[in-house]
Amino acid sequence: MDTFLLSFILLNLIIPFNITVFALTTLWGICSLRIDLPSEEEKETDIKEVVASGISIDWYRSATSRIKTVKSVGITLGSVLWMSLLIFALHSTPYDIIIDTLNDAWTHIIGSSAEHDSIFTIIVMGGHLIIFWSMSIIFMILDLTRPVFMIPWKIQEEGLNVRKYIQCTLLVICNQGISTILVWGMSHYLIDGDAWSETLPEATEIILQLLACACASEVWFYFGHRLCHLSNFIYNHVHWLHHTITAPSAITAIYAHPLEHIFINFPTTAIGPLLMNCHVIVFFMWTVLATFDTCSGHSGWHFPFMSSPEFHDFHHSFGTENFGALNFFDKYFQTSKTFLTTCNYIVDKVYRTAMYPADKRIF
Ligand SMILES: [Zn+2]
Ligand SMILES: [Zn+2]
Repeated sequence: MDTFLLSFILLNLIIPFNITVFALTTLWGICSLRIDLPSEEEKETDIKEVVASGISIDWYRSATSRIKTVKSVGITLGSVLWMSLLIFALHSTPYDIIIDTLNDAWTHIIGSSAEHDSIFTIIVMGGHLIIFWSMSIIFMILDLTRPVFMIPWKIQEEGLNVRKYIQCTLLVICNQGISTILVWGMSHYLIDGDAWSETLPEATEIILQLLACACASEVWFYFGHRLCHLSNFIYNHVHWLHHTITAPSAITAIYAHPLEHIFINFPTTAIGPLLMNCHVIVFFMWTVLATFDTCSGHSGWHFPFMSSPEFHDFHHSFGTENFGALNFFDKYFQTSKTFLTTCNYIVDKVYRTAMYPADKRIF
């Protein structure tokens, strides 16, 4: 019954979320491409007008990109404001319904007779496995079938063949087996009673903890990953395996030597919630987000609403620079110098329309 309830919660929360993101991405992408994409004639007229007015093309492009940034910040703030107003205006908001459902489910889970370690492993690994495999399978189908109307969002010509997919699947299953043991051990030896508190944390606390998890994860990943490249020994014996993939797909996110998986990939996700002794529900949410992010970062497709895969894809293509997951430490320590001068950098953002193919053509 408990396992059934847990699976029910996981399936109900994650699968619709995942499917909705993909459906929105595709539909919105296709619709807005038709509306927003400037024709070749319009682009040429634009450029001719710019040259005639004495403004340099570089200045025009940089100004256009700044205007776009301001516009997107405006749209984001506007959307947040609109959503907030809607939430406050409604009597019983979707937020209340979600919180009530979570509270009920949580009360049931902690009241069950199953051991905490088993429940924790099922929740955390369940979240990871559902997101990981649903994304890996969707992107594998896209890579192998390459629907013509979606090709504009594919960021590299090459892709993995069936043989490589089989190799990846086997190693990934091995690494996920290791993760399961580590998650169980983490629950048994490192997580104390506060993480099992009967009261779920407030939404603001959850958001702040998730942000802190993202920071901790970036610190571990940047320095750990950079060390893998600085030390020839570590690179030649461990990290090389992840770099046999030059055009990644979602499944390659954890296609890595088991030692790299244990010392880099696993702690990158676990360190934040572990250091803060987060509530189990935050462990679950962070695992789902981190899995979603690393899979889109390795997906090889740059769809609207998805986090940009350009940054890490550049790392796989050239084997240098871009050691973090974000561009924060890389900018500070100047380990993304070349990347910053490429067109990949210009399109390295989350698109809310399908302008990616148009931008790629312009730059
Ligand atoms: Zn690397
Ligand atoms: Zn990678």
